[in-house]
Amino acid sequence: MNTPLVPASNFVFGGSHAYARGGGTPTWSALEHLVGGLEGGQAVAFSSGMAAICAVFDQLPVGATIAIPRDGYQGVTSLAHTGQSRGRWSVTELANEDTAAWVKATRTCNLVWLESPSNPLLVVADLHTICAASRNHDCLLVVDNTLATPLNQQPLALGADISIQSVTKFIGGHSDLLGGIAIANDHALHQNLLKARELAGATPGALECYLAVRGARTLALRLERSQGTAAQLAARLTSHPAVVRVYYPGLRAHPSHALAREQLAGFGSVISFEVADADTADSTCEKLALIRHATSFGAVESTLERRSAHAGQEHLAPGLLRLSVGIEDPRELWQDLAQALPGTPTQ
Ligand SMILES: *Cc1c(COP(=O)(O)O)cnc(C)c1O
Repeated sequence: MNTPLVPASNFVFGGSHAYARGGGTPTWSALEHLVGGLEGGQAVAFSSGMAAICAVFDQLPVGATIAIPRDGYQGVTSLAHTGQSRGRWSVTELANEDTAAWVKATRTCNLVWLESPSNPLLVVADLHTICAASRNHDCLLVVDNTLATPLNQQPLALGADISIQSVTKFIGGHSDLLGGIAIANDHALHQNLLKARELAGATPGALECYLAVRGARTLALRLERSQGTAAQLAARLTSHPAVVRVYYPGLRAHPSHALAREQLAGFGSVISFEVADADTADSTCEKLALIRHATSFGAVESTLERRSAHAGQEHLAPGLLRLSVGIEDPRELWQDLAQALPGTPTQ
């Protein structure tokens, strides 16, 4: 009934595995088959999301050109700019919603890196159009699919070359592991990613893969619950007097709403919202009783944090809070937010 946890680094010749760094283990394979199946491609599991991302950047020749989103995971922005400062490649940042600029990038760049919906502003990129444009060109098109999860979106089916998941987030789902996975749409790319893992030694842990497979068994239930609650909370936050602005693609007022409806099976369980200033944001986090004041998202427990408190995120509004909705009772979550925010909610 369960995937065996195989704590092995080496296997006797003659079977399907040999030395694990190159050939993997049955526990890693179980996670790769599972997520590969969900994303519709061939997967390689890594020690973290960033390890999977580095394996993709590792495919690039020296002097490559890279397009990354203006709103996106800070680790990718930092990796891209660090490599640029060392003379490895050159980077352009494009507005996530500027489809024409992305289409152009598929003609001029070696790597087009998309994140949709993006983190933390939940901007949806027009994956359909951009992937279709890239098909005629020699660029590697990658979508970080962590926020959407493979249940809400399958980038490979839209034409992406690689989809990335930080397994640490929704797939694991319990804040008890670090893991990442890259899913390729083609055999040669899959082999190249395996090689990158082998050479970097960015191998996943046996326990982490076991826990991720176990976590994934409830992914659909957790996501259904948390995104259902997120839709309710986003609507209620909109009419809270202390809330200046709410970013949630499920809201009709969100600029990406129409595209999100077309492209995603669900709007997800991450909501960003703005309060007056950094002090108000910090005091809201400090007053929480049920929601945890912590970073990350995609776990069973709800978390809230001020994004501009992070290095590299100073460009965001000082009062921007990111809420990751977990699977707790929706009424209790709203009560907690309402008591932590200043002022009295109107509903
Ligand atoms: C967390 C995250 C990553 C990095 O994953 P780690 O497992 O922390 O290395 C990459 N992309 C997105 C969108 C993330 O949220």
